[in-house]
Amino acid sequence: METVAAVATARGAAGIGVVRISGDNAVNVAKSCFKAVRGVDIENLRTYSAVYGKVVDGEEIVDEAILLVMRKPHSYTGEDVVEIQCHGGYLSLQRVLETVYKYGAKPAAKGEFTKRAFLNGRIDLTQAEAVMDIVSAKTESARISALSSLSGKLSEEIERVKDKVMGEIALLEGVIDFPDEMEGEFNPDDFTNNVIDIINLIKNITYTYKEGRILKDGLKTAIIGRPNVGKSSLLNALMKEERAIVSDIPGTTRDSIEAEVNIMGVPVILIDTAGIRDANDEIEHIGVDIAKERAKDAELILAVFDSSKSLTAEDREIFSLLKNKDAIFVLNKIDIAEGNKEIKAEILREFPTSKITEISAKRLIGFDALKKEIANFAEMREDMPSYIINNERVYNSLLNAKKSLEDAINSQKSGLSEDYIVIDLREALSSLGEITGETLDDDIINRIFEDFCIGK
Ligand code: GDP
Repeated sequence: METVAAVATARGAAGIGVVRISGDNAVNVAKSCFKAVRGVDIENLRTYSAVYGKVVDGEEIVDEAILLVMRKPHSYTGEDVVEIQCHGGYLSLQRVLETVYKYGAKPAAKGEFTKRAFLNGRIDLTQAEAVMDIVSAKTESARISALSSLSGKLSEEIERVKDKVMGEIALLEGVIDFPDEMEGEFNPDDFTNNVIDIINLIKNITYTYKEGRILKDGLKTAIIGRPNVGKSSLLNALMKEERAIVSDIPGTTRDSIEAEVNIMGVPVILIDTAGIRDANDEIEHIGVDIAKERAKDAELILAVFDSSKSLTAEDREIFSLLKNKDAIFVLNKIDIAEGNKEIKAEILREFPTSKITEISAKRLIGFDALKKEIANFAEMREDMPSYIINNERVYNSLLNAKKSLEDAINSQKSGLSEDYIVIDLREALSSLGEITGETLDDDIINRIFEDFCIGK
């Protein structure tokens, strides 16, 4: 494959930056623009060894650098890789990169290094996606979960499921090819039970999707409530810093503010919203619309009420926004109104299974219970398996595989011939193969890597 290069570290002032070159010609390219100390010939450098020297463009010294050689197949991409560690500033990195281009490397596309690692069989698609997840992990639990996918835990589990499907296919094909010898070998009940076992293995993986996705993207949480119930105070308390405007005048929080906080390992994206009120002025209307919009987008709503007052018509308007939504009811200001039984009863009348927490956003009372409720909602479990899935592509492939396996059971039950059952099982196998990238279209593979950054 063509030799490509890109800056692999973040752009900006930094101690060092890395230009990565990968491909058959990587060492040659580096040789033409790097002068090692003591005349060391980098062509003779052993794999995983480094040498100090200068990046040069003819007579011009471009930068001082350390050069590292990793020979195929034991490199990130599976090809010859050379990494040049030079000074980290934007301009020096850019100059080193231009020099490398000048001496024969082509610019690497987004995610090209990881894509090459995949195409060269170094990693499968779930591992490639895990690389991105590690880079963008928002919390420690997200990072650990991505690291586990990178180590191949998810792929191993998918292989286990595939092996079982192949076992059933082999048996059925035996029956098809050697009907006489295999007479009586196929037991429909055993078959159904085996396939149900496989379906259950798949379900164990799909169960992790909600947690995995939240770990990756964050839990979109809207704080809603009528003006002055303490939404901004709650947001601030959760953020532990004064970023939203807190004010005594009703309706001053007009613009929505997003903030990301780590609540018991759950990355929570908090959306503060304008108070919902029956306002006449234009701006307030926009605020109300935004609040409704945010409530619609949110996966979880923290519905705030003022427990020092009785419920108002506006509070009931909030109720109507909560129908068919996941919400935690937050009764605020318990420091000045301990235990408002009326509000609780009214909430329970409308929402019999609702979760209610009592807090004081001002005095920071009741936050442990509230945070626990939020973490519970995200289904963060202590005993999560090591193969958490977090992307829709993988989730959908698993659902398709499960559907094909159910079809196989139905085909068998309705008396269709073994050939039809095998077709269903092969469909399942193909869906499972998509997860690791084995049976995926090039177009889709390309699209996946387009989401990566340059240099990864
Ligand atoms: P928002 O309009 O819903 O965002 O409400 P704010 O957060 O701006 O709070 C409105 C007022 O209620 C402010 O004066 C806050 O200081 C006060 N407040 C908020 N939370 C509490 C609380 O827990 N106890 C008491 N006593 N006052 C609170």
